[in-house]
Amino acid sequence: MSVLVYAENADGKFKKSVYEAVTYARAIADQNNTIVTAISIGDVADSELSQLGNYGAQKILTVSNDKLKNFVNQAYAAVIAQAAKSEQADVVVISNSFSGRGLAPRVAVKLSAGVADGAVALPEQSGGKFTIKKTAFSGKAFATVELTSAVKVIALTPNSYKVVENATGAQPQAFTVETDENDFKAMLKDIAKASGKVSLPDAEIVVSGGRGLKGPENFKLVEDLAELLGAATACSKPVSDAGWRPHSEHVGQTGIAVSPNLYIAIGISGAIQHLAGISASKVIVVINKDAEAPFFKVADYGIVGDAFDVVPKLIEAVKAY
Ligand code: FAD
Repeated sequence: MSVLVYAENADGKFKKSVYEAVTYARAIADQNNTIVTAISIGDVADSELSQLGNYGAQKILTVSNDKLKNFVNQAYAAVIAQAAKSEQADVVVISNSFSGRGLAPRVAVKLSAGVADGAVALPEQSGGKFTIKKTAFSGKAFATVELTSAVKVIALTPNSYKVVENATGAQPQAFTVETDENDFKAMLKDIAKASGKVSLPDAEIVVSGGRGLKGPENFKLVEDLAELLGAATACSKPVSDAGWRPHSEHVGQTGIAVSPNLYIAIGISGAIQHLAGISASKVIVVINKDAEAPFFKVADYGIVGDAFDVVPKLIEAVKAY
């Protein structure tokens, strides 16, 4: 048995969620007395690749191929599946990022594997069973599922597993793959950069604004607070539908699911479709002028007050801290 982990890069750099996935894969390997192989696809410098060896990867495969420079779902899935076969991996770990969510089921199909997407804990392995806790119903609930297939694919929710340093000294080695023209029929043409400085799906802190902020000009409050906290900015669906903020910031059932350590909701009612995307947040702070707003039911801390009064004070308090 061995464990394969896919190390997704963004412009040649690995995010914290990749190191979480590598740490997590190493823990599964240790449970089973086996090794972890990481695979990276696209242009990543050797110095960056060898970082994977600081979190427990014992082997680092790199695929650098002009056709695979940009992310192509089907083609990347084929490469990961080839690596899994060549490494005889029984478990494949992928971060449950925006692209990882599309990759995991495709890799699973190619390996005739069961898939647990949105995993939030290490698998339990006893009595020949392999069970795993994962989010369900767009993050509204948790489920424990059993994977009975020989090969298992796990998509790990970002921010759900602690990164642990574990230096192996592993160095990158080239992995040669065969590509199939059919896998390139749907190509990514353009990548629009998110407006926020911090990537939303991986953010540890998210500051989010809703229709209560009245107009796009008032999102400066969200941006200022986010900047001070090193947070990503987000919004509710009507806000992005109205063009106040880009769609890449829309959080919820029909948008991005986030799992930060801290989610600050400003002027958002807390509709069930919004909560579906944020309920994996560890601490939720709600600022709303209506004490009856449904968001308060799921809040860890709530401030009943006018956002235009509360948020500037919060900004001053953070600056003074
Ligand atoms: P509102 O409902 O208008 O709420 C504004 C809030 O701001 C109110 O609670 C109000 O008390 C408060 N407020 C007003 N002024 C102030 C002030 N000065 N200071 C402080 N608070 C103030 N929504 C999503 O967000 N994400 C989704 O993915 C999503 N998917 C959907 C899918 C479907 C199929 C459907 C039907 C709906 C979906 N929605 C989604 C929409 C969702 O049902 C709500 O309509 C939406 O979340 C409401 O956005 P809001 O809270 O910003 O606005």
